[in-house]
Amino acid sequence: MKGSILYDGERTHLIVLNMTNIENFSFDESELAGILAHEMGHFFNDSPKHEMPSILKGNNLTEINEAKAEAAKQLEIYADYFSKITSTKTGLLSTINKYLATEDAVNRDMFIERIEALNSGVVYQGSIKPIEKY
Ligand SMILES: [Zn+2]
Repeated sequence: MKGSILYDGERTHLIVLNMTNIENFSFDESELAGILAHEMGHFFNDSPKHEMPSILKGNNLTEINEAKAEAAKQLEIYADYFSKITSTKTGLLSTINKYLATEDAVNRDMFIERIEALNSGVVYQGSIKPIEKY
């Protein structure tokens, strides 16, 4: 997914789907709906922003990297939650499980946390992401 592009003279959001992956995983309609909802969630259910640690604030590299990883995970969890509120969670979970069944799946721990968050009763209500200006 690309967050914000210039299209026809105006800033807009853009979702790009990898057709090779879609074909290789044989995603069905409910799975595609789950994927699209997740990607739309990056725009319509953006995670809350927190103050990030930095060297200038006296934080060390470990603290900075952990905060970045946590922020990246929260982005995905909030995007996933959009699939829950648009009733496409089952399809999204199916795509994640198909991915985790592959030998070369990376970020397994994060995907497992995402599944747990999707299946929990926790409300991840974010906000609409503004279109970035350059
Ligand atoms: Zn995502």
